[in-house]
Amino acid sequence: TIIRLQHEFTIQVSPEIAADLDRLKDYLAHKNEIPLNQIRHIQILKRSIDARQRLIKVNLKVRIYIEEDFIKETIVLPEYPDVSSAPEIVIVGAGPAGLFAALRCIELGCKPILLERGKDVKSRRRDLKAINRDHIVNEDSNYCFGEGGAGTYSDGKLYTRSKKRGDVYRILELLVGFGATDQILVEAHPHIGTNKLPGIIAAIREKILERGGKIYFNTRVTDFEIKNSEINGVTLLNGDTIATNKVILATGHSARDIFELLYQKKIEIEAKPFALGVRVEHPQQLIDQIQYKCEVRGEYLPPSPYSIVKQVGGRGMYSFCMCPGGVIAPCATSPGEVVTNGWSPSKRDQPTANSGIVVELRMEDFAPFSKFGPLSGMYFQKSIEQRAWQIGGETQRVPAQRLVDMVAGKKSIDLPVTSYKPGLTSVDMTTVFPEFIHHTLQSGFKAFNKSMKGYLTNEAVVHAPESRTSSPVRIPRDWKTLEHVQIKGLYPCGEGAGYAGGIISAAIDGEKCAEACIATIKPNTI
Ligand code: FAD
Repeated sequence: TIIRLQHEFTIQVSPEIAADLDRLKDYLAHKNEIPLNQIRHIQILKRSIDARQRLIKVNLKVRIYIEEDFIKETIVLPEYPDVSSAPEIVIVGAGPAGLFAALRCIELGCKPILLERGKDVKSRRRDLKAINRDHIVNEDSNYCFGEGGAGTYSDGKLYTRSKKRGDVYRILELLVGFGATDQILVEAHPHIGTNKLPGIIAAIREKILERGGKIYFNTRVTDFEIKNSEINGVTLLNGDTIATNKVILATGHSARDIFELLYQKKIEIEAKPFALGVRVEHPQQLIDQIQYKCEVRGEYLPPSPYSIVKQVGGRGMYSFCMCPGGVIAPCATSPGEVVTNGWSPSKRDQPTANSGIVVELRMEDFAPFSKFGPLSGMYFQKSIEQRAWQIGGETQRVPAQRLVDMVAGKKSIDLPVTSYKPGLTSVDMTTVFPEFIHHTLQSGFKAFNKSMKGYLTNEAVVHAPESRTSSPVRIPRDWKTLEHVQIKGLYPCGEGAGYAGGIISAAIDGEKCAEACIATIKPNTI
């Protein structure tokens, strides 16, 4: 007897069954004693891979439609009213925080004026090519700066440590509404990929412009007008000033000139701990072998990620922003420095796997830079990036060493070609890092190899540094109004201000800042 038309089950099946809806249907019919011909549809609601045992399983939450047709729900974007003549809010920075702040402004009836120092997603590509091929770093247009911010040319991992599932789901749904695959609502560890992100960002831009918002590219903010502890306007690089008493500041963790500006103007900021280390590249096949405990991954499993944390001599050392089937990118934002990070295409089909492996830093580590006050962490970070540039050969070539050689403390005689396009310079990492970081990395990698046997291999190459893991500065804000603790009308927002760490959390913070700001213009809106 059929009691309900829809049934939900949480099951564990082999990767082969999980990948084939017909086999899954057979399995569910048999297991639950449902006549096969009564099952009209199976909808997968959640999917995750459990690779802890030798026999890999896929955890699925499924909904079975019995004698009832499945009607696919389409994700509908919120109603965005025309805001051409609505009250204006200036947003500095068009990263995830700035873009989602702008969308929320429109949704709640305000007009966003987005100011972005970089170029639109398409024009930005030319500058990425110039870094990779000609070693030229454009200070306004690079892997961190430009439309979509640091998240545009990334792996587009969408997982977050945020416990607010509702907020996370809302952002994921908006991304689907703007063109992301709806599989991001199903996967336990969703990602979008570098090839798909620019289209989504462009769709967000079109919506903002269509509903009456404004976006100005190539527009760097260089100063803030402040009167009686209230924001009065922003000054642009060309000398123009935009009068406003509402500014959402979402300039990201690489906007060092903004941190310098705040410091010079005696606007309160604080140093904050972050993490720093290297980016390691392995053959993807090797990571698959370690994680899936098999010779070859096979067609039913995705390129494996890994995540690892160890305590080494009282310090945390962990993998950060791991990119399966990905590429290491030159992410400097100024000439004279080398910075690495990673990206992956949506299929994660590159032959290499890379991950940041970073050491937790503490405030006392910044002591040699204490004369810079709240910018001490930023100067510590910058000093390592500049040293890497010098040691690498004063181009975007990156200091590199075979992982086994780094652990053994000897320079590599030769280096294989890696995915990092500008090239490698063989160095001894002791010349790049302070002793405590180098030593922690050496010991930590040995500990990693105990958990992931085979990780320590001659084929793995360490690239230095991975230094932009999170902001080295916090811009303090009132926990309730989200305004800067001193400056009325200034809303520090997103990763650069220290309130987010990734695409999703930056987008959530952008929405929250827009709501807080609008609450002062149109009370009772939310
Ligand atoms: P940002 O994205 O940094 O945006 C700030 C924007 O402000 C930039 O566009 C910048 O040009 C602009 N700006 C700066 N100064 C000024 C100024 N003075 N005037 C005007 N505009 C200015 N996170 C994930 O969650 N998943 C990933 O897979 C992932 N991969 C990454 C890969 C790479 C290569 C990089 C670089 C980052 C990656 N991240 C990833 C991190 C993620 O991109 C950031 O956490 C996120 O973009 C932060 O958002 P944000 O809006 O706070 O700041």
